[in-house]
Amino acid sequence: MSRAPIVPLGRNIYRIPTLGDFINSFVIVDDDGQVTLVDCGLKRAPTAIVRGLRAVNLAPHDVTRIVLTHAHSDHAGGAAAMVQRTDAPGVGVHALDATYLSGGKSVPADATTRLGALVNRLPGGGFAPVAVSEELSDGQVLNVGGGLQVLHTPGHTPGHIALLHQPSGVLITGDSIWNMRSRITWPIQAMCTSHVQNKRTAHVLGEINYDVAAFTHGPQISTQARESVRGFLQRASH
Ligand SMILES: [Zn+2]
Repeated sequence: MSRAPIVPLGRNIYRIPTLGDFINSFVIVDDDGQVTLVDCGLKRAPTAIVRGLRAVNLAPHDVTRIVLTHAHSDHAGGAAAMVQRTDAPGVGVHALDATYLSGGKSVPADATTRLGALVNRLPGGGFAPVAVSEELSDGQVLNVGGGLQVLHTPGHTPGHIALLHQPSGVLITGDSIWNMRSRITWPIQAMCTSHVQNKRTAHVLGEINYDVAAFTHGPQISTQARESVRGFLQRASH
């Protein structure tokens, strides 16, 4: 497990482990010093996020944009606090997850699974409501660090996205696939709005080009990343 407060993934792009390697945020730095933060971890994650920023001489006020891969409490839990602490006006998120964020509600889990139905009935599944400052759509290339492409990969949630940082060749997978205990896996089925749809849309991650696969859950894969992801998708999609 990584003990470093921040891990370089490529030029101007970093991973911040917010709960060991189990839950990650990402930082992309523009040439003019503006910072984009991707995902905000659990409610307590802002401490680790700020520590990570400081380790590479960045301050919370350097952050001018926050993007979330999806509206679950392990990614959005610290979002309201990070909006408060930074110069970001709100969060950018795919349109289909936007109302959950502004309402502070996790997207419902798959109620056709017993665990999913149980998760939906548990109290405290939400997070502090957070303002949505931009709604993202598939294929859009954000003016972030030389180009950050939005890949809509619904299933885990309806508005789930992956993000491809084009200049560095780093793919942020989001929760479509995880990298737990040195193995690529599907996310926990009960946590997905539709596990079937997640399996279907994850194939996008095997078709695009990148050098590093950076997972929201688990450490990055820096060698043969695309081959590893493709191999998993071919084995596991059926
Ligand atoms: Zn997650």
